[in-house]
Amino acid sequence: MEKTRLLGKTPAELKEIALAAGLPGFTGKQIAQWIYGRRVRTIEEMTNISKAGRERLSEAYEVGVALPLDKAESSDGTCKYLFPVNGDPGNAVEAVMIPDGDRHTLCVSSQAGCKMGCKFCMTGRQGFHGSLSAADILSQFFGIDEAASLTNTVFMGMGEPLDNWEEVKRAIEVLTADWGFAWSPKRITLSTIGVLPNLKRFLDECKCHLAVSLHDPFPEERLALMPVEKAYPIGEVIDLLRQYDFTGQRRVSFEYTMFAGHNDTARHADALLRLVRGLECRVNLIRFHRIPDFPYGTSSQSAMEAFRDRLTRGGVTATIRASRGEDIFAACGLLAGQHNHA
Ligand code: SF4
Repeated sequence: MEKTRLLGKTPAELKEIALAAGLPGFTGKQIAQWIYGRRVRTIEEMTNISKAGRERLSEAYEVGVALPLDKAESSDGTCKYLFPVNGDPGNAVEAVMIPDGDRHTLCVSSQAGCKMGCKFCMTGRQGFHGSLSAADILSQFFGIDEAASLTNTVFMGMGEPLDNWEEVKRAIEVLTADWGFAWSPKRITLSTIGVLPNLKRFLDECKCHLAVSLHDPFPEERLALMPVEKAYPIGEVIDLLRQYDFTGQRRVSFEYTMFAGHNDTARHADALLRLVRGLECRVNLIRFHRIPDFPYGTSSQSAMEAFRDRLTRGGVTATIRASRGEDIFAACGLLAGQHNHA
């Protein structure tokens, strides 16, 4: 019989499991402490639960931390890990750990592949192979060598996190709850292409930072890059954002991948400024990593700087994001869930 994974469950859910196994209700809290506080990987290690109790729990349950199948390390210190999905090594996702001084940021995946089909994205090209459970999302935090030193996370790996909001939300709850990692939501950023109904839920139900993939201010051009523009136009996404406060703790940023001669002109910068006018935000300009069978190339450094300066002069803070992990295909848009030695 396949065992149910305890990783990702709340203390209240663990209490129900304990009671059903004939254990006292407070055992739920103890189990949470063992999994999230002490980070044990087996029920056997939960030594303040009676031996008979641990045996009863183990009949149907396991902690369920998935361990990486593979690890590649970049010359700049970035590490890319490959994790199985639901125990299946043939269906793997990637997590990327990016060190930057004292800061260790984990870029996590929320789906195997992706349905959204953005034309410039290697993940989008491989199609959709399922959404991750909270246990598989959290395994990316628990299973890496740097687990104890992580300081931040970005939901920016494979998949669209708002197409898997319930499980992503559960993972965020573990990261932010007192009984979990007790991280401030300010340490977490969720990146989306703007799936409107769940974007509203995200904004209402948690306080994490938001990054919206914009990439082109003109609807028809954006549609050619990102099919989502048809269902959820960027103008409507920004109208929704205007209803929320980004002047305090929570921040919103826009991701803008730059394609030479296509979306890196002064006309685009001016349209972008008009689109976000009045919204407290910043823009991250991303160097495009060329992929096969995609018509556009990488914008030059001077074009990126001119674009950045035009946005800044127009009153919007813009930065050119340093590219990390390119030599191990860990950079933005390059995650494809492949074994590095395959
Ligand atoms: Fe999916 Fe994001 Fe790639 Fe678009 S850019 S296909 S949403 S993973």
